[in-house]
Amino acid sequence: MKEVLAKPELTAPGGTLEKLTWAAHYRADCVYFGTEFGSLRAYAGNLTLDEAANGLDFLHKNRKKGFVTLNIYPFTNEYKKLIDIAGKLKEIGADALIVADMGLIFELKKAGINIPIHVSTQANTTSSQTVLAYRQLGVARVNLARELSFEQIKQIRKDTKDSGVELEVFIHGAVCFSYSGRCAISDYLTGRRANRGECTHPCRWGYSLVEESRPGEFIPVFEDERGQYLFNSKDLALFEYVEQLKEIGIDSFKIEGRMKSVHYIASIVSLYRQLLDGKKISPDECLKLLSRVKNRGYTTGFMKGSITPDDYSTKKSQPKSAAVFVGDIVDEQIEAGSVCHVRNKIFAGEKLEVLTPTGEISEITMPSPLKTADGQQLEYANNPQKIIAGQKLPAYAILRRII
Ligand code: SF4
Repeated sequence: MKEVLAKPELTAPGGTLEKLTWAAHYRADCVYFGTEFGSLRAYAGNLTLDEAANGLDFLHKNRKKGFVTLNIYPFTNEYKKLIDIAGKLKEIGADALIVADMGLIFELKKAGINIPIHVSTQANTTSSQTVLAYRQLGVARVNLARELSFEQIKQIRKDTKDSGVELEVFIHGAVCFSYSGRCAISDYLTGRRANRGECTHPCRWGYSLVEESRPGEFIPVFEDERGQYLFNSKDLALFEYVEQLKEIGIDSFKIEGRMKSVHYIASIVSLYRQLLDGKKISPDECLKLLSRVKNRGYTTGFMKGSITPDDYSTKKSQPKSAAVFVGDIVDEQIEAGSVCHVRNKIFAGEKLEVLTPTGEISEITMPSPLKTADGQQLEYANNPQKIIAGQKLPAYAILRRII
């Protein structure tokens, strides 16, 4: 798995060491992750500093980069802790820190922590003027707000090209209904603070009206029997914009999802890797591939100019997928064939779809009966058993059942 860093870069989420490894194997150029504090994904798993050191080492050996999120909006007494962490991250070789807060950018400078800074999406940067102001502060890259249209992004690129600042755009993933992350519904309803990385996603919940004098009587606001999820944005999917964004000189294409599964990360990275490498994949085929992972329907969001009710999934909130991730090929070949780590029940003789780290999709028929590595014969296998796949497959290949 040796690759030369490409331009533009494909930047993928790595909420845990395992996810970081999968993102790299599926050919992301860079992986971003959080550590013990300040990462704005309190429930993503996050990496300990030792894991971060191992993850960075692994990425560098494979000629990839690792960026670390410190994109919380800190309170006054939290800067010291963040500066301590930033110092350690520099020592272990982090390639950049993803930061949202202006004060932290200044404090990092003051502390002499000389490491590239990427401005987080959380800072909601919407103008050329703001990008140039960040550049004056020594920032290397700015992630533009997801609330911009293609024309606005193009203008910002044009206005800032000579400054040397890199621009990054989110091309895929869940989005907020408010300016990214700047929302207090979770604080209000559950006491978990979105701006501290603890969001419980109440924008995805179903809501009713209650009239004051009739407590307990829920007046439906739904349009049909399935309910009404007023704030539930569809997931962003900008596969149709990859070429245009490349042409105007976007430096990094970022994928959201530090809390998503390895199957999700592998599938999404695989599709955008191929598109960034210039492979022509029709919009229908892209949607088919994207349907394999959990999603709330797809939208191009603000990229087309403005959003409409079609960009929201108001009748359902549970993400759905057209496939179940049932197993992956582990990095050990034995004489009897490739070894599959079972993630969900696999049945003898069933047909499964295979996705490999190089993006090939094929079909496999599982042996009947199934065989374990030590010769046991089974009608079905379950997590965490290891079985022999019916044919030779590369390590990290994914097996999924189409439903
Ligand atoms: S509740 Fe929804 S809109 Fe608000 S921060 Fe959380 S994900 Fe974003």
